[in-house]
Amino acid sequence: MHTPSSFLNGQWVTGTGTPLTLLDPTTGDSIGQVHDEGLDLAGALSYGRTVGGPTLRSMTFAERGLILKGWGRAIHTARDELLDLARIDSGNTRSDGKFDIDGAAGTLSYYAYVGKTLGDVRVLAEGEPEPLTRSSARMVGHHYNVPRHGIAVHLNAFNFPAWGLCEKAACAILAGVPVLAKPAVETSLVAARIVELWHEQGLIPDGVLQLLVGEPRDLLDHLEGQDCVAFTGSGNTGRVIRTHPRVLALGIPVNVEADSLNAAVLGPDVEPGSDTFIMAVADISRDMTQKAGQKCTAVRRIVVPEAHAEAMVEALGERLADLKAGDPADRAFRVGPLATAKQHQDILAGIAALEDAHERVWGDPSARPDTGYFVAPQLFLAKGGENAALVHKSEVFGPVATVIPYDGTSESAQRIVAAGGGGLVCSIYSNDLKWARPTITGLMPWHGRIVWGSKKVHDQSIGPGTVLPNFVHGGPGAAGGGEELGGERGLSFYWQRVALQGDRGLIERLMR
Ligand code: NAP
Repeated sequence: MHTPSSFLNGQWVTGTGTPLTLLDPTTGDSIGQVHDEGLDLAGALSYGRTVGGPTLRSMTFAERGLILKGWGRAIHTARDELLDLARIDSGNTRSDGKFDIDGAAGTLSYYAYVGKTLGDVRVLAEGEPEPLTRSSARMVGHHYNVPRHGIAVHLNAFNFPAWGLCEKAACAILAGVPVLAKPAVETSLVAARIVELWHEQGLIPDGVLQLLVGEPRDLLDHLEGQDCVAFTGSGNTGRVIRTHPRVLALGIPVNVEADSLNAAVLGPDVEPGSDTFIMAVADISRDMTQKAGQKCTAVRRIVVPEAHAEAMVEALGERLADLKAGDPADRAFRVGPLATAKQHQDILAGIAALEDAHERVWGDPSARPDTGYFVAPQLFLAKGGENAALVHKSEVFGPVATVIPYDGTSESAQRIVAAGGGGLVCSIYSNDLKWARPTITGLMPWHGRIVWGSKKVHDQSIGPGTVLPNFVHGGPGAAGGGEELGGERGLSFYWQRVALQGDRGLIERLMR
């Protein structure tokens, strides 16, 4: 029986009250309990600000990078143990677990390298000093990025307990801001074990990283003006956090990474059976089934010229036939269960709604084990382009996607994709620059990332669903309007940019 604790105020603490039960999604059996009442969350936020903040600000980027390097190594060393936990905690197959856990270690190691390259300075200047007047070069203005003097509260979604913890923490810590991280309570075992490993190995300077295992309770009521909140989860919760009275009253920055109805668009030039077509099919089937479709970047809408819609369904069906839902410990099965009972109920309700509005064209809903939170991969067909009911509004967060036939014009493809209201990523498959130019440039403002598949790179795709630390992650509108990662860009959320004006020599001496 696992009883993960919280790491707050420099110690491991367990709350009181009625416990929350953790369940193994493969069997539905109880595997642990979380006690989270009565934890001193106000004290933890204050401890981070007063102890962790000064420690980090006294360090150079290179020194902060060394913390991240140690964390990445610790995860890598404990990889097998963490993969086992990811299976019982989240129902991850070994491959799904690696996506989360290796992704976490890789992101830490990438940001350790960014820290090394930023080097032995504590604050970053931006650009060059600019004279304020024509008559004198002495009076200048220069922009500096300084770490906020608060704590970063990180609220993470259930689906990436390792990566979510690490991608957010890497940016904040490297920027010089301490962190209180809260994994989704139902899949908190992996995040709790990672922080435990770091603590056991002496890798967490006092107050620099704290962990809340439990519900958020009154956490946000204790925010102060220099704090910030980075949230990943549903759009509804994002709105609750953005409009929290304390957030509104103090103007606290909030970064939201929310739902996304990511689209894959096939250009009219792409013939079934061609390299580019096969690339699209491989990307879509991988995205639909990796982590049982519980990826914010997974393809939900497949936009295909009418003439090729049948061929696309057939080709996807052939691939998906090999990707069966079943026990994640058995390598014969490539699709594990959904992570929680609530997700299972939500996804079954989402599929029932799709059944009412659209047509199931591939997949047998009963092709799954009777116990546990399994859902068999399924494909739907929605007619009506941008006016198709439901498919542009409802994110079914499982191994499910919908084919939307279109007339092959760039305008129509753009309207259909934009009907999703803004997304994290869109993949576009075409070798025709005349069609691709308006389509890609027209869709860029609606997305944080665009992946262009073509015959030149058909064998080099890592898929649109993979988030890399050197490229931004986030998207406008329904996707939350946030932005994370992107190398050094990911640090700016944790900084105040200040224009410092005065005597050039004095400013240089001050900031040296
Ligand atoms: P969720 O229910 O919104 O919860 C996300 C996190 O917020 C959890 O840690 C949750 O804690 C916490 N939370 C809930 N209510 C809160 C409140 N009032 N104040 C502070 N924290 C609160 O989302 P989820 O079910 O875990 O995740 C599924 C959704 O996340 C999907 O819609 C998916 O699209 C989205 N997602 C987006 C991205 C992205 O990068 N854009 C990545 C992954 C997932 P508890 O666990 O204690 O409730």
